[in-house]
Amino acid sequence: MKRKVSGILSNVIFLVAVAYSIISIRDYYSRSLSIYYLIGSVFSVNLIIYFYCGKCSCRDSDCAHVIPGYLTRFLPKREDGPYSIFDYTITVFSLIFMIGMPNYIFWGNYEQLGIFNGLIFLTFLIIYKFVCLGCENKRCTLTR
Ligand code: SF4
Repeated sequence: MKRKVSGILSNVIFLVAVAYSIISIRDYYSRSLSIYYLIGSVFSVNLIIYFYCGKCSCRDSDCAHVIPGYLTRFLPKREDGPYSIFDYTITVFSLIFMIGMPNYIFWGNYEQLGIFNGLIFLTFLIIYKFVCLGCENKRCTLTR
């Protein structure tokens, strides 16, 4: 139960970070750039769910993040199995896009950088401390 609460909390904090970026990019930089970031983030999340969660052995039974495991049901089915270099590459590049683009745009504005990266740091801290611990997806490099 504690893992699921932590998993949902980490989803919410990550979404707040992305929403903060979209609004800040729109208000302080460029409206069209904020739309590209929004579309790119939706696309990236789907890629991660397909390429990473799609191969997770506990996606149907014990996903501590709850929503990603549930969403795998609506994407083309994949067999459980070891992750390939391609799965990792797509997952890492999707994360780099979602985290890297706001950092690139906010560069030089310490307030925006601090808020965004603080939320991202908190997300990964909660995941690492409470969600990965005891996860049944033994093929994931972060599970403990
Ligand atoms: S446990 Fe992790 S890898 Fe598995 S479905 Fe949930 S979020 Fe994805």
